[in-house]
Amino acid sequence: PERGTLLLSVENAVKRFKGLVAVNDVSFDVKAGEILAVIGPNGAGKSTMFNLLTGALDLSSGHVEFMGRDVTAMGQRQIALMGMARTFQHVKLRPQMNVLENVALGAHARGNCGYLRGGLNLDGDEERQIMAEAALQISRIGLAGQEHELAGNIPLGTQRLIEIGRALAADPVLMILDEPAAGLRKPEKQALAELLLKLRESGVTIMIVEHDMDFIMKLADRLVVMNFGHKLFEGRPEAARADQHVRAAYLGN
Ligand code: ADP
Ligand code: MG
Repeated sequence: PERGTLLLSVENAVKRFKGLVAVNDVSFDVKAGEILAVIGPNGAGKSTMFNLLTGALDLSSGHVEFMGRDVTAMGQRQIALMGMARTFQHVKLRPQMNVLENVALGAHARGNCGYLRGGLNLDGDEERQIMAEAALQISRIGLAGQEHELAGNIPLGTQRLIEIGRALAADPVLMILDEPAAGLRKPEKQALAELLLKLRESGVTIMIVEHDMDFIMKLADRLVVMNFGHKLFEGRPEAARADQHVRAAYLGN
């Protein structure tokens, strides 16, 4: 999709869990080529919103359009095949697999390598092609040389980069990252920010949940601020900083 065109459109999204309305009538758009951050206090509904977009959860009401198609009723796999890739708030790597294999697993999400036949036991040619592609993504995330280390032995900050590499292996149009900087030290956050900016340059659209305001202010083109399931604000980071409601709910002071 051409930069600046409408990529994702959320209309009046609602998600109810029993008595709780986790996402309450939220609407916003994502444009191709931007970094859109979703911020807000714990329990605001950010992860639930991401789960609605990716098809991990069904909406109670409302609509989601992705790449010009109504994906409201589509399942996770179908939406992933259209080019939406995600990472999770809690890292979900396979600790017993090496970095290369973990990244290669991402190719399956886009159907790039047929069926998952007993883990990664693919045909020779198929396997070589996928592994070569995974190796490319590993150098893209700055981890060339670490392909054969076990994921479980790798520090958290690097594991989060590997998760992004796995998402990239699916060749996504839209990457959805749920708190990728959580638990990272400052230099790790810096490396992550640089990677995300580089990915944006290469044309990947990014949606990100993040708590660290300094981090997000430098990174995001636009913000959606959520509070108690509602959208409190949508706009540029500088405007969010000046907004009375946002300050009261989230930014403090
Ligand atoms: P955030 O990611 O902004 O911290 P969440 O989307 O995880 O918030 O949660 C929003 C609200 O929905 C919270 O009150 C949470 O407890 C609730 N919630 C999230 N998932 C479920 C679920 N599967 N069942 C019931 N309640 C849930
Ligand atoms: Mg969350």
